[in-house]
Parts: sequence; structure tokens; C-alpha cells
Amino acid sequence: MTAPIPALPAKIDPLVRAFLDSPGAVAAALDQFGSPVHLVFPQVFAENLAQFRSVLDHVLPRYRICYAHKANQSRAFVRTAARAGIAIDAASPQEVACAVAAGFGPQRVEVTGPKGEVFLRDLIDRGITINVDNLWELARIAELARTKVPVLLRVSGFDDGQVSRFGVPLGHVERAFELLSAHRDRIAFLGFAFHLDSGDTGERIRAIDACLALVEQAYGYGLTPSVLNIGGGYRQVFTADADQFDAYVHALRESLLGHGTPMSWGSNTFGYHVAGGAVHGIPVFHKYANTIPATKMLADLFTAPLERHGGRTVAEVASDNLLDIWLEPGKALVDHAGVTVAMVEFVKEIADGTVLVNLDLSRDSVTPADQEVMVDPVILPRSGGGETAPVGVYFAGRLCLERDLITNHKVWLAARPSPGDLVVFPNTGAYHMDLSAATASMRPPPIKLAVARHGGDFQVCLDADYEPELPIGPPQHQSTPRRSPRIPTQAP
Ligand SMILES: *Cc1c(COP(=O)(O)O)cnc(C)c1O
Repeated sequence: MTAPIPALPAKIDPLVRAFLDSPGAVAAALDQFGSPVHLVFPQVFAENLAQFRSVLDHVLPRYRICYAHKANQSRAFVRTAARAGIAIDAASPQEVACAVAAGFGPQRVEVTGPKGEVFLRDLIDRGITINVDNLWELARIAELARTKVPVLLRVSGFDDGQVSRFGVPLGHVERAFELLSAHRDRIAFLGFAFHLDSGDTGERIRAIDACLALVEQAYGYGLTPSVLNIGGGYRQVFTADADQFDAYVHALRESLLGHGTPMSWGSNTFGYHVAGGAVHGIPVFHKYANTIPATKMLADLFTAPLERHGGRTVAEVASDNLLDIWLEPGKALVDHAGVTVAMVEFVKEIADGTVLVNLDLSRDSVTPADQEVMVDPVILPRSGGGETAPVGVYFAGRLCLERDLITNHKVWLAARPSPGDLVVFPNTGAYHMDLSAATASMRPPPIKLAVARHGGDFQVCLDADYEPELPIGPPQHQSTPRRSPRIPTQAP
């Protein structure tokens, strides 16, 4: 019996799969627009959003979804978000401009992240909600504001030993209270905000609990926060088969110890620490092991009991206190809504027999350099035929740099590819396509195209030209004038 071939099957959205399976469709797009390309699927984005809403509608009377624009530069996604009636989280002047051009009014834009003087002045002029990162920013807003500036206060440091470069540390919030209280005529304090990179529900619950305590404290300063912004960080599911993923990773770890066939390029250990005959640590690709969808994370979060509140759930406590919950999902809305397509230029063998498949793409267009894409690409052969024995390969990039390997782990293909074959990297929409893409060797980044299904047909256009045909979404749950909020004191 021979061991099964190690594989990392990718989960692929049915709409994306249908496009890839349409005979000649991908090749036609590349013939028209060139190679390589990023394909975005705004209808998949819209479907992710619909699923978010259906979970939140069940548990929360009031909420606001702010799409975190930085996950992808796609204008089609931003247009889709605008048309669907949600809000947007922008993190640069350029993202604000894109949002405004796509139809977002200032009431639907929130700005997070570090902001310098110039950006801050612009946001104040426009009346855009500022998610304040630090005390300098808050003091500067107080000095510059002429009319009431809507402000959220980002806080951080909920767990001991947890460091973040963002937000006001819990221990410094008192200074913020003093500023907010002293400048109530110029600052409309909406409430507290946090954002955790972690997918851990327990961590998120502790952060919510800490913010609820801050809400209580804020009343003591005459402030009446009405928003709790719990940020993003809802995870993606990349793999179609967790068992095969685990088996691949097991074989990879064995190979790092010198057992079995080599599976890594050069001296790459993927963040593992190999010592004393064992493999330790968490790999750079740990997100690919996730099997819990964002919607499940959300449902678990809002139905979790809060000890300090007599076991009432997060959703119940938020609603008891008339708090609007704001969320800033980025990757979860873009999950499965983008792929990257490149072409095989040539296949070569190096001295030890290792096979390299060279593409017209560079690594930074499919993944930030310090990470690793751990789902198998889909090969679309230009023509049939050729030998069909499985072959283990590394995908190499177009740059004249030793490090421009697109995969540092070995990928097994059903057959050795040929020049002209197309290679599709699944699920590159969130942070893979453009977060790190550079113009090394004067090569422009791949063109971005939007793909939409109308009836049985697919239409492909430049991302910038895409106009959504969505029905107008239900209006975002708006804040209503509120009675005096009540926060229960400690549970008996
Ligand atoms: C990046 C970012 C997000 C989005 O995070 P995801 O993990 O993509 O959901 C949300 N809020 C803030 C403040 C961010 O910086």
C-alpha cells in the first residue's frame, strides 16, 4: 500500500467554482486583460454579508457593520458594501476617498488606526467618526474641533501580558475621561472600541466585559456612551478537509526532522522551532487550521454568559444597556470572494531533481512574505495530454530574487504542468492580494477584475468599473434617541 499523496484541498465558494469550471472562462479573461490577474467576486462578498446579518438580526436589536476596507483595495467590494447599506471602517485618507466616491456619506464612515495631524484635520472637517487611537489624538481633536466631532475611544490591554501598539491602555483611560468630559461641547463621545487580532472568543468576551465596566465609569464623568465597537477578527475557513490538512502538516513536521520526503524549500521551517529531535511552536500558517466559520464565532460570542452580569448574555447586556454594537469585519466579509490567477512560464529542475514551476507572478501578490499559502492551487491546463504521474513541485515567482518562491512548501500536482497552463490560488481576497504587493523590478501588480454571475452567464470587468445590481439592503439599524441608559451593577 502506498501512502496517500499529501494534499491541502481548498474550500472554494460554489460561485467561484462555477466560474473556474466554465470552459475557457478564466482563459478568456486573461486573454482580454493579460496575466496575472486578481479576480474578485462581489456577489460572494454580498452573501457573506447576508450571513453576518442573519446571525446578528437574531441576537441584537441594534448593530452596525463597518466593512474594514484594508482587507482589500477592491472598489467593487466597497461599492457592494455601500449599496448594501452598511458602514465602512477606513484606515487612510485614500480609503476614505474611495469610500466617499463609492457613495458612503460621512455618517457611515469610521476611521481607525494611526492618524497624523493632516488626516485628523480632514476628518474633523468632514464630520467623520474618529475611532481615537491615543491621547494625543483626543487632545488634538479637542483643540481643533469647531462643531461636535463624533468620537469612539479605542482601548487595549485587557489581558495581562497582551501588548498592542493601538488604543489607550486601560490604565490611561481616566485621562481620556477628563478630556472627554471637559470638552463635551466639542466632542460627541459615542463609546468604546477595541479590535483584537485573535480569534479567541474568551479574549473577546473579556474585552467586552472590560468595556462594559468603562461604560459604568463613564457615567461618573457625565458621559453617556451608546456604542460598543467590538472590532473585527472573525476568522476565515480555508480548508475543504481538516483531516487532510492535519495529515499534510504532520508529514511536513516529520520532513523537518529529516523523515520521509523533503517538503520545504531551502531551510524554511514556517515558524516552527526544530530542536532536540522535535518540532515546537506555532507555524506562520496556523490560520489555515481554522474550521470554525465567522458566523459561528459571532453566534457564540453574543450568546456567551457574562459572569459579572448575573449570567446574562453579551447580547442581552448590550440590549439592556441600549448599546449599539458595532463590528468591523474585514477578512470574514471577503472570505472566498477573491482568487489570483497566474500562468506557467516554464518548468525547470534544479541539481537535486527538485521541480520548480515558474509563474508570471511574485510571492507578494498572493501572500505577505512572512506567511505561507497552505491551500493547493487549482491547475487549469491550456491543453490536455502530457504525462499524468503525480509530481511534487515548488511554485517559483517572476522576480530575480532567491526568496521569490510562491510556495516554500511542496505542492503535489496530478501532472507536471506545461507553459501556458493557468494556476489559480484560492481565497486570496483578504490581505493576500494587495497588503504587501510591491512593484519590484518595475513589474506592476496584477490587474484586478470583478466577476459576477447574471443568470447562467458570468460577466468580467475591471474592478474599478463594477456596479452592483443588489437590491437595496435593509437600512442599517440606526441609533434611536435613548432613555437614560442603565448598567446593572455587579451581579448579586
Ligand atoms: C484590520 C482591522 C479590522 C479588520 O480585521 P479582520 O481581521 O480583517 O476582521 C478591524 N478593525 C480594525 C481597527 C483593524 O485594524
